[in-house]
Amino acid sequence: MTEIETFRTETRAWLAENCPPEMREPVRSDADVCWGGRRFEPSSPAQKQWLDRMGERGWTVPDWPTEYGGGGLTPAQTKVLREEMAAIRARNPLNSFGISMLGPALLKYGTEEQKLDHLPKIARGQIRWCQGYSEPNAGSDLAALATSAVSDGDDYVVNGQKVWTSYADKADWIFCLVRTSKDSKQGGISFVLFDMDSPGVSTKPILLISGYSPFCETFFDDVRVPKANRIHDENKGWDVAKYLLGHEREMISGMGLGGGGRNPLIEGAIATVGLDHDGRLADPLLRARIAEFEVRARAFGAMSERFIDELKAGRAHPAQPSMMKYYGTELNKQRHELAMAAGGSDALEWESERSNGGAAPRAWLRTKANSIEGGTSEVQLNIVAKRILELPGA
Ligand SMILES: Cc1cc2nc3c(=O)[nH]c(=O)nc-3n(C[C@H](O)[C@H](O)[C@H](O)COP(=O)(O)OP(=O)(O)OC[C@H]3O[C@@H](n4cnc5c(N)ncnc54)[C@H](O)[C@@H]3O)c2cc1C
Repeated sequence: MTEIETFRTETRAWLAENCPPEMREPVRSDADVCWGGRRFEPSSPAQKQWLDRMGERGWTVPDWPTEYGGGGLTPAQTKVLREEMAAIRARNPLNSFGISMLGPALLKYGTEEQKLDHLPKIARGQIRWCQGYSEPNAGSDLAALATSAVSDGDDYVVNGQKVWTSYADKADWIFCLVRTSKDSKQGGISFVLFDMDSPGVSTKPILLISGYSPFCETFFDDVRVPKANRIHDENKGWDVAKYLLGHEREMISGMGLGGGGRNPLIEGAIATVGLDHDGRLADPLLRARIAEFEVRARAFGAMSERFIDELKAGRAHPAQPSMMKYYGTELNKQRHELAMAAGGSDALEWESERSNGGAAPRAWLRTKANSIEGGTSEVQLNIVAKRILELPGA
């Protein structure tokens, strides 16, 4: 048996013993998603057990070094773990902006002290992070940000406003872009970390039309941030910001992959239109649309595997996350459009028990934000045109 086959066998056995049966059920509501943090209240003992067991093994961040709370796995082992978890439909033990966004940036740009301070707490789900990038006048044109950080001894004094800060009211700490110089647009930005309980930080949830508030306006009023909390050099925060965005876009592009294993799109279509005598979907038009979609989805899946391998090996083109983010999110929107079309008028059910409180239409509407969050599709296409295709005038 090769080394990687032995690892697969051991991983399979460990997961069989340690992943609680409840944690192999599909995620049904927000409560099923574990975000960790100081105020984390597990929705069940199994959710807590799964987080703790995976955290102890470093498998919430399998490819991070062990000294920072990771599993120290090679890219090949990490892939095996991902495959074995997918095979038993194990839930992600921890959803975290710390893992998908801040962690990689800290690993690249943080000092040893900063890494040892923050990474293990991210790995164990002890601190929940939010992202302070967008401002009322700085979205796509992010480098126009105006939140100021003025030097005062060993601290910065931060004043300004962020917007669309996802879960700012639930987060413990924020990673934040601030302006430390007005001399240069990109070259006057610094990247700082601070506790959301710091005096002068306040949040105001933004109420959506649905009545739900997944994000906030976030205000800073003379917030003192130690300079020791700055990542990388002063006025070099744009490098960190862009690197982090690449990882955010990689994470968001994963939406294009669907759930793996079960295929709710096909299952839903069969439930609505049934099968013909040959065991094929009875509606030929719908069948053709789904087949066409599945070809695109599989091609994206293969491309995505290649991209992740290249990224982990440090060989990915810096603009590749934009390409993957664009295609993955557009694909996810198409998947849900098709699921709604396949479900007929029943698919619009919003409140019934049968529809699990309108899970499908709610998920469909949520996908509309996929091509905005982490940078809009139009902006990703601009980046692809300029950085990959090298189009003139782009
Ligand atoms: C669900 C969700 C969660 C979010 N969470 C966070 C978060 O946690 N933290 C955070 O900091 N931000 C967050 N955001 C904000 C997000 O990053 C911004 O919404 C996004 O970058 C777009 O900025 P904007 O909303 O200001 O739109 P604008 O930049 O005003 O864009 C408006 C429209 O103009 C188009 N446009 C703009 N410039 C160009 C151009 N050069 N070429 C072609 N078209 C262009 C855009 O594509 C868009 O269609 C979140 C957004 C969403 C939807």
